[in-house]
Amino acid sequence: MKKETSPASIPDLSKNALTVLEKRYLRRDVKGKSLETPADMFRRVAETIAAPDAVFDKKADLKSLADTFYDMMTSFEFLPNSPTLMNAGRELGQLSACFVLPVGDSMEEIFDAVKYTALIHKSGGGTGFSFSRLRPANDVVSSTTGISSGPLSFMRVFDMATETIKQGGTRRGANMGILRIDHPDVMNFIMCKADQKHLNNFNISVGLTEKFMQAVENDEEYDLLNPRDGKQCGTLNARKVFQRIVKQAWENGEPGIIFLDRLNRDNPTPHIGEIESTNPCGEQPLLPYESCNLGSLNLGKFVKDGSIDWKKMKETVVNAVHFLDNVIEANNYPLQQIHDMTHANRKIGLGVMGWADMLILLGIPYSSPEAVKLGKKVMKFINEEGHLASQELAKKRGSFPNYKGSIFDKKGATPMRNATVTTIAPTGTISIIANSSSGVEPLFAVSYIRTVMDKNVMVEVNPYFEQVAKERGFYSEELMKKIAEHGTVADIPEIPLDVRNVFVTAHDITPNDHIQMQSAFQLYTDNAVSKTVNFPNTATIEDVENAYMLAYQTGCKGVTIYRDGSRDEQVLSTSKKE
Ligand code: UDP
Repeated sequence: MKKETSPASIPDLSKNALTVLEKRYLRRDVKGKSLETPADMFRRVAETIAAPDAVFDKKADLKSLADTFYDMMTSFEFLPNSPTLMNAGRELGQLSACFVLPVGDSMEEIFDAVKYTALIHKSGGGTGFSFSRLRPANDVVSSTTGISSGPLSFMRVFDMATETIKQGGTRRGANMGILRIDHPDVMNFIMCKADQKHLNNFNISVGLTEKFMQAVENDEEYDLLNPRDGKQCGTLNARKVFQRIVKQAWENGEPGIIFLDRLNRDNPTPHIGEIESTNPCGEQPLLPYESCNLGSLNLGKFVKDGSIDWKKMKETVVNAVHFLDNVIEANNYPLQQIHDMTHANRKIGLGVMGWADMLILLGIPYSSPEAVKLGKKVMKFINEEGHLASQELAKKRGSFPNYKGSIFDKKGATPMRNATVTTIAPTGTISIIANSSSGVEPLFAVSYIRTVMDKNVMVEVNPYFEQVAKERGFYSEELMKKIAEHGTVADIPEIPLDVRNVFVTAHDITPNDHIQMQSAFQLYTDNAVSKTVNFPNTATIEDVENAYMLAYQTGCKGVTIYRDGSRDEQVLSTSKKE
């Protein structure tokens, strides 16, 4: 017997969630009419992801497992990344959000990568690339005795391909482009998005090395290397280059930076290859041809009567790891190489959303030392329980095939089913579906206008704020409007001070607070943490430099900043700016 399939059978489904699901996630006929309800969609996903259990256990109770998965999703305690919700049990069947593709230094390899990108974008995935292997512009090309175009001109080809595909009606293609700091074209790369006209389908990050960071600290020159032959072909002053990166980021948020040596220090399978790139939003370092499927616990759902329900969280982690490992089996990969690499490492990325909600429910201000301490505790718990769950799965299903030679392969060590278990994703869309705050971000605003998916505009009041306002008797339409105009509650006297202290937003807290929180979660995350460090429009270049340095000093794997109003288009803005 199937469960009820009317939308009403998911009591917590918000209006915004329904809009998002109807627009892009539900099966539709050729005329665009929905062929399923949200409940049908979750049932479709639950059944498809439960099915692989039969491969490992002939007697597996698939029905009961599907019910567990269904309940976990429809209570919004856990959601997988968007492609799993969209594609599980459907013709496309591509379930991962994150891919990294190699870009080799030949026409064949470059245009193979363009084609692979097209296939991935069509299926709703995002792609990351390192362009560091491409010889610089104006270098020799022996086959034609001409000169090379360089990484930047090829990036435009990828950008155009993405623009043209726009993911066939599911979601827009996203790319990450990375160039090593010692690539001869690095200065042009740093400036490549300065005019905000080009490479709009790319996020860009400079790949920094420890060697470079030391040269910055010592104010020294560092070597540029031609990737064609590895030979030194110039030097630059490290501090000046670093300052240029900072200045550009201050101008319009890009480039971000990633710390390559840190990504490789935590590379679980160094014997298989070096990590050169991450996925588009930076949270998932991957080897070439690897893909990863993500999923997030919604932390607000684990607060019961003012305290954290650890038992329930543990159960959900176990089920989520099981779910994500099954996704690898159920997945229909766009390329054989990706199938093989993903099966060999079996990376999964369990993370969180609703962190700000959890803090609000516990009455802890986001920017307090207590919040940082709790962040570490929560993520340590999820990471440890997640690893235990992966070990349990390995007992029944075997280790990931590349286990031998991996960082886990030590004397007396327990097998692991997955080369990585945890990742903190941005949860841009699934947090709308779950009606939660996104990732580990503070609230963007207590009331705001959200532009999603091709300019669908939604006005929202934070649901927890609305509830508190009603309970404490200071709710009024007029006040909500005032807050919407203001964006923050920090200086609205009608609101009790303790409420104002807890409902802090991204702009009420300092960049340091943002980075301390990112670093707290990074400490117990196998992969990386997606986080934007927000600055007020009035921030100085030096403020941004200090934040980049702090991210480096506090063990972050990368950092992305955004100064309010510094880009022509913003995804999120308070209604004041509209
Ligand atoms: N992503 C993408 N296109 C998008 C949004 C996301 O390709 O429009 C990919 C990208 O790799 C990103 C990852 O999905 O890093 C996770 O993003 P998010 O958590 O926001 O996705 P959600 O599951 O909430 O849709």
